Parts: sequence; C-alpha cells; structure tokens
Amino acid sequence: MTDHPRIPLAGVLGHPIAHSRSPALHGYWLRRYGLKGHYIPIDVAPADLADVVRMLPRMGFAGVNVTIPHKEAILQIADIITDRAALIGAANTLIFRADGKIHADNTDGTGFIANLRQHAPHWQPQAGPAAVLGAGGAARAVVSALIEVGVPEIHIANRTRPRAEALRSDFGAKVVVFDWVQAGNMVEDCATVVNTTSLGMTGKPDFRVPLDGLNPKALVTDLVYTPLKTQLLIEAEEIGCTVVDGLGMLLHQAAPGFERWFGQRPDVDEATRHAVLSA
Ligand code: NAP
Repeated sequence: MTDHPRIPLAGVLGHPIAHSRSPALHGYWLRRYGLKGHYIPIDVAPADLADVVRMLPRMGFAGVNVTIPHKEAILQIADIITDRAALIGAANTLIFRADGKIHADNTDGTGFIANLRQHAPHWQPQAGPAAVLGAGGAARAVVSALIEVGVPEIHIANRTRPRAEALRSDFGAKVVVFDWVQAGNMVEDCATVVNTTSLGMTGKPDFRVPLDGLNPKALVTDLVYTPLKTQLLIEAEEIGCTVVDGLGMLLHQAAPGFERWFGQRPDVDEATRHAVLSA
C-alpha cells in the first residue's frame, strides 16, 4: 500500500470574498516555490462561521486567513488566542494544530511595520507623535504596532469619536483623542501619519482632510491600496513627505500564515507586488 501525504489546503474566509487579493498572492507564492498546496476563497455567512471553521481541519486545511466581517467573531471560536490578537480584539490568521486546537493570531500590525521598514528604511518611529486617522479594526492593529515600536504618542481622530475613545481606554495614555474636524490640525506636528479609514478607496467617499500643515519630514502611509497611489499619498508627496502605499502591508501580513501552512517563508519583493497587481 502506498502512503499518500495530504496536500495542504488553506484559504480566506470572508463575506463577500470575491474581491480578495489573497488567493492571487498565495497562489503566486505556491507556484514560485514549486509547493504542493491550494489556497481558496471561501464565502461564509456570519451565522455559519463556527460550523465551517470546525469542519475545515477535517477537510485537510492547515489553516486560514479571516477577513471582514469575521475578524472579531473568530475570537469566540478559537481555542488559543495570541496576546496581540486579544489586545487588538481581532484575528486574521488561524492555524489548525495537530492536537485539534484552533490557534488565532493577528499579523496586521507586524505587516504594517514590516511594510514601512521595507519601503522607508530611514523611518524613525521615535522621531515624534504619530497621527492615526480612523479607529476601526485596522486602526487597532496599527496603534498596537506603533506603540510596540516606540512611537512616543499617538494622536487619533475618528468620525465616530467613541471608537477613538475606546482605543484610548484599551491602549493607554499614549493615545490622545481629537475630534474628526480637527484631523487636519492633528497631523501638523506628527512624524508619522497613517490613514486607516476607508476614505479614498475606489468606490468610497474621497479623503478630504486638509493636509497643508503636514510636516515635509513626515512619513505618510495609507492602508487603502486601491488605488495604489491615493489622494493622501499624492498630496503628501507634493509636500515632500516620504510616502508608503498599503499594498506591502497586505503582502507582509500574509507571510507568517503561508510559512506555517506550506512550510516556506515567502519573499515579499517587487515580483510579489507585480504578481498581485497584475492578477
Ligand atoms: P472598519 O473597521 O470598518 O473601519 C472603517 C474606518 O473608516 C472607521 O474608522 C470609519 O469611521 C472610517 N470611515 C468610513 N467611512 C467614513 C467616512 N465617510 N468618513 C469618515 N470616516 C469614515 O474597517 P477596517 O478593517 O479598519 O479597514 C479600514 C481600511 O483599511 C479599509 O479600506 C481596508 O481595506 C484597509 N485595510 C488595509 C489593509 C492592508 O493590508 N493594506 C489591512 C486592513 C485594512 P467610523 O468609525 O466613524 O465608521
């Protein structure tokens, strides 16, 4: 009798999921490294999430990514939650362990920082306060990561102020909350500026925060990556700022899961960016 090793499966759970670039990214890495494996998009309605997730290990899945709207709810289903995922209140990467336990992690924050380190190697997080626009799920990962790398203070403004206040109570006194209408003034003395809102994304309202006070020495980055060069990045570049687009965060947050499921640490380089953009 021949032994047939199982081909590892992974995927991304979301609702909807057709727009996700993750299958193109993981598919590219699988081909590039000549690995056996498949990565598929899986559309799961919220009411079915727990049933589907518990069934996946039995179907041969080594793990999955989790995206909108399941990132918070998945914490109720996981057996083991990393400290950073617990602090952020959301997970994006699951590993189905051999002992049957579901391990949940959040790699958005490390992906965010890795993107800045790669594309702005001279960036110094300690150089001054950081401005974070928005206070949704992605902002929580960004704030957590900025604190970890030593940003002295984080100025945060969100349309719905109580969400920003919640970040202050969860992450502490380094977080200073501003009114949304003050967002333009808030960025003025900041060394790092991050848009974590969906403003400026294709199909969403424009990003209209006034940027004339932006420090030309600031690093400006946008989590939105469709379009790749957002209005925020265009204006910041005109002022003289260093700018970093959001695509690299998507690529870097995916790498740890790929390594765990398929056994190879993938490169995040120009070829990877090109593969995802042209898919
Ligand atoms: P979310 O939890 O739904 O948060 C959305 C944020 O955008 C909130 O702060 C929301 O403010 C704000 N917002 C939405 N419409 C607005 C408007 N008309 N005016 C002002 N503020 C508005 O979503 P998320 O998961 O944090 O994602 C946010 C963005 O980051 C999305 O564009 C997502 O694609 C992107 N993202 C990118 C990466 C990457 O790898 N590059 C990773 C994660 C997320 P309210 O609280 O007032 O609603």
